[in-house]
Amino acid sequence: MSATPLFPRLALIGFGLIGGSIARAARAQGLAGEIVTTARSAKTRARVFELGLVDRVVETNAEAVKDADLVILCIPVGACGPVAEEIAPHLKPGAIVSDVGSVKGAVVRDMAPYLPESVHFIPAHPVAGTEHSGPDSGFAELFINRWCILTPPENADADAVEKLSEFWRGLGANVEVMNVEHHDLVLAVTSHLPHLIAYTIVGTADELEGVTQSEVLKFSAGGFRDFTRIAASDPTMWRDVFLTNKEAVLEMLGTFNEDLAKLTRAIRRGDGEALFEHFARTRAIRRGIVEIGQDSAAPDFGRPHAELGKKP
Ligand code: NAP
Repeated sequence: MSATPLFPRLALIGFGLIGGSIARAARAQGLAGEIVTTARSAKTRARVFELGLVDRVVETNAEAVKDADLVILCIPVGACGPVAEEIAPHLKPGAIVSDVGSVKGAVVRDMAPYLPESVHFIPAHPVAGTEHSGPDSGFAELFINRWCILTPPENADADAVEKLSEFWRGLGANVEVMNVEHHDLVLAVTSHLPHLIAYTIVGTADELEGVTQSEVLKFSAGGFRDFTRIAASDPTMWRDVFLTNKEAVLEMLGTFNEDLAKLTRAIRRGDGEALFEHFARTRAIRRGIVEIGQDSAAPDFGRPHAELGKKP
């Protein structure tokens, strides 16, 4: 626990997987003197109150940001503009205003015009998540050893950037600073494209004629089920990601389609050498991810296996 909290008052707008995880970790680490939150629906606000993870649950976004030293929007990317407009007149001068959106260009475009010059706007994206959403889905350890990318504007106040970095490091994350365009390109290939592929393949299997749906589910351990985890991600969040990071996703999709065509050709021609060379290269990438501590080396993502002779 820090002796003095980094921020006397933290306001979280939105309390789902990310907002809820920030609240849990910030509280555990003593990073904020007081945590105030709100959510769009009365149902979520009531649940957050019941969970008892924050000091105050308020009804409006305007009320939440009042006197807050750090305000973080933890809502879908498409909602950031209207919420920025709503909170702008109520922000405390000198406050840091941030977000956690998976796309940065659109968030900056939609929020910046509304925010007063008296606040420090420093967008952020914690590259950590699960396929679950809602107030119960968060957990304090979510950000440990994951990266949080900050995309401050060029003229950003260095002290404010450092203070927000310190906050994210306090939550367990590593911090990297990037420009907005580069962030959106990197995430298009590391996150947005894989989600699109998973959404596609799970949809394709669902609509097949020659294979029944029950067969797809029954034999999913052959690979399919690993795509279903990603394809179970929140539809609102991912709709907004593709609507707002259109250019970068289309660019990556173009490259992906070319590479898929190359593999298709290799299969059609029976070019085993090309296939082997490609698969050997991709296997090394997996090893690299494990080596830098971004995943476990346990086989099959560490899934527990049932004991022989015992029904799972
Ligand atoms: P979530 O679990 O669905 O929670 C979203 C929260 O935002 C809920 O409290 C919701 O309130 C509120 N909200 C929804 N629409 C709103 C609106 N129009 N105005 C105000 N509040 C609204 O979502 P999440 O997974 O935490 O994602 C939040 C943000 O984090 C997104 O921008 C996403 O891109 C980013 N992110 C997500 C992940 C991930 O893996 N999930 C990872 C990194 C970053 P109600 O419950 O009342 O509807």
